[in-house]
Amino acid sequence: MNILVINCGSSSLKFQLINAQSEELIAKGLCERIGIEGSQMTYTPTGKDKIQVTKPMPDHTAAVKLVLDALTNKDTGVVESLDEIGAVGHRIVHGGENFARSTLITDEVIRAIEACNDLAPLHNPANLIGINSCRELMPHTPMVAVFDTAFHQTMPEEAYLYGIPYHYYADYKVRRYGFHGTSHSYVSHQAAQMLGRNYEELKMIICHLGNGASVSAIKNGKCVDTSMGLTPLEGLIMGTRSGDMDPAIVEFLCNKEGKSVHDILNVLNKESGVLGLSEGYSSDFRDLEKGYHAGEEPSIRAMKSFAYRVVKYIGAYAAAMNGVDVICFTAGIGENNPFIRKMICSYLGYLGISMNEEENAKRGEEAVISNPESAVKVFVIPTNEELAIARETLELVK
Ligand code: AMP
Repeated sequence: MNILVINCGSSSLKFQLINAQSEELIAKGLCERIGIEGSQMTYTPTGKDKIQVTKPMPDHTAAVKLVLDALTNKDTGVVESLDEIGAVGHRIVHGGENFARSTLITDEVIRAIEACNDLAPLHNPANLIGINSCRELMPHTPMVAVFDTAFHQTMPEEAYLYGIPYHYYADYKVRRYGFHGTSHSYVSHQAAQMLGRNYEELKMIICHLGNGASVSAIKNGKCVDTSMGLTPLEGLIMGTRSGDMDPAIVEFLCNKEGKSVHDILNVLNKESGVLGLSEGYSSDFRDLEKGYHAGEEPSIRAMKSFAYRVVKYIGAYAAAMNGVDVICFTAGIGENNPFIRKMICSYLGYLGISMNEEENAKRGEEAVISNPESAVKVFVIPTNEELAIARETLELVK
């Protein structure tokens, strides 16, 4: 069965068509500037050249229509008709406490996703638009919602509650949810397979280090803690997000700069992290690494702070699980940056970790970067959120 995986942002739509049995990628693409002048789609059928289509996309329905036209087009298409698309899997950012697993989309499910809009006002409405557009154009095709938050719903109360009056949780569901769940789930399952051990008997720490970054602790098959919170702002220092900090800083900066809470939150989301620490030099670790080796203080400061925060989370999660069997690095930085992996692992001698420098030099591929005698295995595992969504979708529609 071919499954179309859709990831809708407020003005973008990423898609992949995947053969769910062979797990082969058939085609992928991206629609950008939806609802804005200059909309365009890039579309790549596997093994062929990338095609660029510049065409107005006034809304997401127009974008989905363009995607479906490209996939079925006589010259560039990869399927004869829409009947060859057996199901659609939608990435949904926030499922709140309503969704602890993926689910077939019904009217009731849509209402339950809408009920989580408050928790992710930028993302969930866009995700819903994607669902509605697909339902309009493919009314008989089953659709599945796969949530970024669902994997973390197994966290115990002591891990997800904030130390604030309990009624804020009871009344408004203010708690830690965590994100990147599809990636943490995919990578941890892959790690168990690489180890040849039962998923339910392992203690794992997954470091998803991309522009957005999070760490999770998985014990006996369940996520027991993760670094992101009510929103993706909490936890690690990220590309442009601050991660953990004293909440009193918000009022302090509002007063000093004469700005609103909204303005400061914008700074914390978009101008902070390694971008902010490097004095606006870059949020991209390729640039920062160059700066680091050139001895530039802003890049050195940003990279050291980033690595140190990851190290603190690894230590906290090893303590929370009373040990760790395997640590995995994934996502853009985790997969492609041996230097930052080495920086992080250089703190972890106390866990009995010894790193294999030669294996650690690999980029973008699965690798065991610990030595055989290392007490804790360290893996690099490329994440594949789209494939994980296709697997979940197949499971629910087959
Ligand atoms: P992501 O959000 O997962 O796409 O990750 C983005 C981050 O990954 C950026 O900081 C990039 O510097 C880093 N990254 C992505 N690809 C590469 C690569 N091929 N080599 C080095 N860093 C990379």
